Amino acid sequence: MRLALIAHDEKKPALIEFAKDRHDDLAAFDLIATGTTGQRLIDETNLDIERMQSGPLGGDMQIGARIAEESCDGVIFLRDPLTAQPHEPDISALLRICDVHETPLATNLASADAVLDELVREREDMEL
Ligand code: PGA
Repeated sequence: MRLALIAHDEKKPALIEFAKDRHDDLAAFDLIATGTTGQRLIDETNLDIERMQSGPLGGDMQIGARIAEESCDGVIFLRDPLTAQPHEPDISALLRICDVHETPLATNLASADAVLDELVREREDMEL
């Protein structure tokens, strides 16, 4: 199962803390991330992560493509609601494609825990 991790700049520290807290759960998934988020996670958590382009250069769209081809099972995207992002259209497209494919999407830490818990449960069911 594959899980995508993305965080806007203001939220990257929170995502890194989350990834440290839930390291063992996350390590059981194939992880993909936008470029800068992915590099920081690799440097600071030791998780194995496939990096896409940086978000403003198309990384959100690359993750959206994975969802469109049903090869991504969930997204944790810690968004900064207070700062305008230059690639807002790409972000909206990513949220939309998650809704099209009923892909679970968390946009804050509280829902990130819930989505990860559910994916861990689904993964354990598949192994039975
Ligand atoms: P980044 O992209 O991880 O390359 O910063 C995230 C985003 O802005 O969507």
